[in-house]
Amino acid sequence: MSIRKDLTLRIDEIISETPDTKTFRFYLPPGEQLDFLPGQFVSLVMMVPDASGEPRKRSRAFSIASSPTETRYLDLTVKINMGGEMTPYLLYHAQVGEEVRVKGPKGTFTFQEGMGERLLLIAGGSGIVPSMCLLRYLVAKDLPVRARLLYAAKTPEDLIFRKDLDAMAAAHPRIRIDYTITKPQGTGWTGRTGRIDEPLLREVLNESSYDLVYLCGPPPMVEHLVTHLLALGYPPERIKTEKWV
Ligand SMILES: Cc1cc2nc3c(=O)[nH]c(=O)nc-3n(C[C@H](O)[C@H](O)[C@H](O)COP(=O)(O)OP(=O)(O)OC[C@H]3O[C@@H](n4cnc5c(N)ncnc54)[C@H](O)[C@@H]3O)c2cc1C
Repeated sequence: MSIRKDLTLRIDEIISETPDTKTFRFYLPPGEQLDFLPGQFVSLVMMVPDASGEPRKRSRAFSIASSPTETRYLDLTVKINMGGEMTPYLLYHAQVGEEVRVKGPKGTFTFQEGMGERLLLIAGGSGIVPSMCLLRYLVAKDLPVRARLLYAAKTPEDLIFRKDLDAMAAAHPRIRIDYTITKPQGTGWTGRTGRIDEPLLREVLNESSYDLVYLCGPPPMVEHLVTHLLALGYPPERIKTEKWV
């Protein structure tokens, strides 16, 4: 069972993932741990300067990107939300050594051993983060679970974790990854293009059936695909969703 905690942690590493996304790594103090399930999120609480430069306490939700099996550190992978308060601060100003509070874990967009042996993971943009956590967990535990990931991003350089995902798929035959690029013009991308939509979903579900479908990304994408999954006869209890603004 995951026990909710309120931890004070330091940003120990900042890793650039894409032009607008960074991973913040927090090493856990000796003897401290955060028990969570793959797919859960935490609230990140920190002081963020407002327009006049006055520090204000802000709290935002971020999924955990590292696997629950990784007990040394916790990774949060953050994509900038232009016009927002916390993510521009994190991307442009936050420094190694800065203290934050991390409250959690929270959320039911989760996987546990025994829930299913064939998983379809559908991610749009930064919605890849909980799927990455889940894939890292399946690999770390060497679970007999097949997972197929459909991941949409605007351009190839917006594919977060691409190197890690490619390495994972190459090393683990139970993992299959399909990217689709929605704005391929001028990028030289020769792979699949377009959104994850009903025809693609139908194509994927015609090839195989799944015990559970996980959907995470912009609300319109998630809602659109849930409608089609229900129309195709997938019962609601086999569809897990997380919508981010
Ligand atoms: C469960 C969950 C997990 C998540 N996990 C992740 C993750 O792993 N990685 C990730 O990158 N994101 C994640 N998110 C999304 C993340 O929480 C948001 O990107 C974040 O809250 C945006 O924070 P912000 O302070 O930058 O923007 P906010 O200040 O919250 O603003 C959000 C948007 O609202 C607009 N806005 C703000 N104020 C106004 C106003 N007065 N009028 C009109 N518009 C306004 C802004 O322009 C901005 O586009 C997750 C969200 C949820 C719910």
